[in-house]
Amino acid sequence: MTGTDTDAGKTTVVAALLRAFCLKGLPCRAIKPVQTGCTRNNGTLYVPDLFHYTDAVRYQTNISPDIRALACFEPACSPHLASLKTGVRLEAEDLAAKARAEMADGRFTLIEGAGGIYAPLNERQHILDLMLALGLPVLLVAPNRLGCINQALMAMRVLAETPLPAAGLVLCETSPADDGNRDLLPENSAYLARHAPEFGFPLLCELPFLPELASQDDRARRRGWQKLSEFLGPAADRLAALCSPEPEDIAADDAAFVWHPYAGAVPAPKTYEAVAAEGSRIRLSDGRSLIDGMSSWWCANLGYGRADLQLALARQARMLPHVMFGGFAHAPATRLAKKLLAIAPPGLGKVFFADSGSVAVEVALKMAIQYQLAAGNSRKTRFCALLGAYHGDTLGAMSVCDPVNGMHHVFAGYLPGQIFLDRPRARFGGEPDIEDLENMEKRLRAHSDELAAVIVEPIVQGAGGMWFYHPEYLKRLRELCAELGILLIADEIATGFGRTGRLFACEWAGISPDILCLGKALTGGMMSFSAVLASGRVAEAISSPKDDSVPGVLLHGPTFMANPLACSVALQAIETLLAFPWQENAARIGQRLAEGLEPCRNLPGVEDVRALGAIGVVETKKPVDTERMQAFFVESGVWIRPFSRLVYLMPPLVAANDEIDALCAAIRKACERGLHL
Ligand code: PMP
Repeated sequence: MTGTDTDAGKTTVVAALLRAFCLKGLPCRAIKPVQTGCTRNNGTLYVPDLFHYTDAVRYQTNISPDIRALACFEPACSPHLASLKTGVRLEAEDLAAKARAEMADGRFTLIEGAGGIYAPLNERQHILDLMLALGLPVLLVAPNRLGCINQALMAMRVLAETPLPAAGLVLCETSPADDGNRDLLPENSAYLARHAPEFGFPLLCELPFLPELASQDDRARRRGWQKLSEFLGPAADRLAALCSPEPEDIAADDAAFVWHPYAGAVPAPKTYEAVAAEGSRIRLSDGRSLIDGMSSWWCANLGYGRADLQLALARQARMLPHVMFGGFAHAPATRLAKKLLAIAPPGLGKVFFADSGSVAVEVALKMAIQYQLAAGNSRKTRFCALLGAYHGDTLGAMSVCDPVNGMHHVFAGYLPGQIFLDRPRARFGGEPDIEDLENMEKRLRAHSDELAAVIVEPIVQGAGGMWFYHPEYLKRLRELCAELGILLIADEIATGFGRTGRLFACEWAGISPDILCLGKALTGGMMSFSAVLASGRVAEAISSPKDDSVPGVLLHGPTFMANPLACSVALQAIETLLAFPWQENAARIGQRLAEGLEPCRNLPGVEDVRALGAIGVVETKKPVDTERMQAFFVESGVWIRPFSRLVYLMPPLVAANDEIDALCAAIRKACERGLHL
């Protein structure tokens, strides 16, 4: 139960509802989590709202409701100021836990907030945080007076954007009607009755002002409470129904109906139910909070629950969530394209928006083929990639993934055969390897007639082995591609936006690709989206083919291309990242990862330990049992999902030192116990 304001009539409504429940014979209770303005009399604290609750049910004999306040303060002010004055700290989660403990007996429980939804609890939390921590249906009380439509619509808008179920709206006359407001009150209720349902809040009832509630006469007050509780009877029925929903078993439904990545469908793999995430932490349905070492497959580089990203999404959702991109332009797309070109390696001139990392790779491959075709090189239709590469799961992208570690053997009959270069042996931070460079040159020269492009993950090979290689390799590759008329595609889907300690990993080698693929952290981990940046030369060549029979258009155009929601979130994510000391953070995290994982190097079964940017890797000699290690990590309060021979960390760039240390400690402990063997 919350109000649009202080003095909205919340306490009266809770008290009368309590009576309504008692009359229906339902065991019930009312809790006031925070009460300010209490008075002390002979050592006893007098809690004003509780008095009204007790008064409303006093004349009730069959049910005796449980009535209590969880935190009481004498100062008559906001909860956060009262707690500052008294030194008693209020935390939404603590109050929610206390309330939940009271509710364990299964009684129907009414919880009355303090003030409105943004009444402050402490320097960062509000009553709304308490409501979110409780997760109960919300009944909103608005005072029927001048200004209440505005207040009620604002409150309902905010509440409707939370996952809290809406119970309904109650309008409450808080002062006697006079000539001045006689027309206003029915109009308020008619207006709100029309608009409140748009937010999921039906107008449940209008309570009249009853002077008898302030009477000294017990019988008069009893009549008053009785009248109000009769008005609220239907509201009580709705609340009772809402609070006894069909039990939902997410784990069972997940196992029965959902297919997970890289998993069989039957039996379903072990999963953990995530319900929320904030900063570097992910909360499970059982209340445990895990420190995230994965950035949700490397996309949540800014951490979770960022208001700026959520608001960018909400603002755009109001104006234009989507419109087809054939024939239309929109500001979110043009602004984002301009921004990406301004921060990307120089020489790129046009942006093509796509749906996911894999689709970006498909688009890049198609661009390369169309470029060569338009330039009159119709034989150049193959691609060259590196062993140990990973570029995505769609068919074209799969064809340029490592043919041994990847999925080639399963789809061999379908995938086009590509040309592979050995994984560069020269490590990042080590010496360049002449043989690496000579082999590369030999192979590229041998196949230059048939190669449309070379595709690489610059500096860091991700899912194919978490391998960090020497920038010299990339420099030489750039030179050779230019010389041999082969395009260079840089797949920075995993490395882009600061992960390697540079905004883009190409910067380590000071090179610019002809085509650049971006994804993952592009939206700060909020939604699937990608961008393919092409050089002016590539864009112009495709658009004006030498031969009239070749179409001068790029043959790709997804339904959700340049989705305005994704563009707006991406633009905000970039602005947030650039305003944040990401480089210092990547360096700090990298240093701590290197130190924290180093002790694993000498343990049996460990092949190598390495770190670069905000990436730390323990490479094992044999593939690990992911589910077994995962279970240990969850028990240890961290979220780390190893795969194959890689137990690695890519925490959000906002992770604090103690969080990084906890992640490293969990990996050390797992390896010390031999869980990787
Ligand atoms: N390229 C690279 C380098 C990647 O790491 C990934 C995802 N791990 C992809 C492409 C594919 O991206 P998505 O999963 O968004 O399709």
